[in-house]
Amino acid sequence: ALILGLESSCDETAAALVESDGTIRAHKLARQDAAHRPYGGVVPEIAARAHVEVLGPLVEAALEEAGVTLDQVDAIAATAGPGLIGGVMVGLVTGKALALAAGKPLIAVNHLEGHGLSPRLTDRDLAFPYLLLLVSGGHCQLLLVEGVGQYRRLATTIDDAAGEAFDKTAKILGLGFPGGPAVEAAAAKGNPKAVALPRPLLGSGEPHFSFAGLKSAVARVVGQYSPEDIAASFQQAVVDCLVDRTRIALAKVRPTALVVAGGVAANTAVRAALESLAADHDLAFVAPPLWLCTDNAAMIAWAGVERHAAGLFDSLDVPARPRWPLDPRAEKVRGAGV
Ligand code: ATP
Ligand code: MG
Ligand code: FE
Repeated sequence: ALILGLESSCDETAAALVESDGTIRAHKLARQDAAHRPYGGVVPEIAARAHVEVLGPLVEAALEEAGVTLDQVDAIAATAGPGLIGGVMVGLVTGKALALAAGKPLIAVNHLEGHGLSPRLTDRDLAFPYLLLLVSGGHCQLLLVEGVGQYRRLATTIDDAAGEAFDKTAKILGLGFPGGPAVEAAAAKGNPKAVALPRPLLGSGEPHFSFAGLKSAVARVVGQYSPEDIAASFQQAVVDCLVDRTRIALAKVRPTALVVAGGVAANTAVRAALESLAADHDLAFVAPPLWLCTDNAAMIAWAGVERHAAGLFDSLDVPARPRWPLDPRAEKVRGAGV
């Protein structure tokens, strides 16, 4: 099957065409970094308007690159949440309109499922159940992925997400926007042992995460050390927390592999530390290529491929959802995000 995927849940607009065998026939992506940079973060209304302007042309460009028409597409997969609701609605309504016009089935994709299944797009041998560390701008969770649409949440953050911590640290250090890559670049020139920073929840028995205290600690040492040393020490603290929490989770489940996905999975230090943790446990380690870690439409089209194969389709009245937990059974942890 050939699936058209649409993504517009944050500040990347994207359209992709992906085949069932994992061939990416086309991928078109537009960033909005310049539009949001003056504000130091993503402005929802600006994002939604930008999605409206570019999504249509990106779909046309993707179809042209693949050399196909909408008639040759088997289903249309669009992110239906979670995310900034204005942006999500642009992509989902576009998907519904295309599905209706071409008489094709609609697949409403959970953006987090897009991240979570993306490792299977590039690693076709990755089998369920795998332990997924989902580290993105809005989420920091450990999930046992038991199948398509079957997720058991083992842990979540009790305050900030990992990517959020990178973004806030970048802002505090004046490193610019978007923050993750800026902190990583600065960290490469600094000493990770220069600044003593906390590792929240390290050693705790439940594999939950916390990053708010780390960010506050960064704010307290600003000016006392070079931005490079603070960035390197911050990154090391995040890595130590991610590894420690994942180790606790690995003691509770028997997965086929340790998998990392989401924007923070693009971080080289994070990948290297998790790879060696997996090796310690004689586990395969799988991480998507860097471009597939941050938001894109290939992962949405791929989730569409997996849902199409499982016969999971949605009706045209499916709602856009600002919040949409992957594991609806999971309880709230200390009032934190899902
Ligand atoms: P979510 O997927 O939770 O809805 P999102 O879609 O905004 O949130 P992603 O696009 O998956 O998040 O990831 C963006 C996040 O990843 C940002 O917080 C960004 O700072 C972070 N990030 C990107 N590259 C890196 C990197 N090299 N090192 C650390 N963090 C990074
Ligand atoms: Mg983004
Ligand atoms: Fe994302």
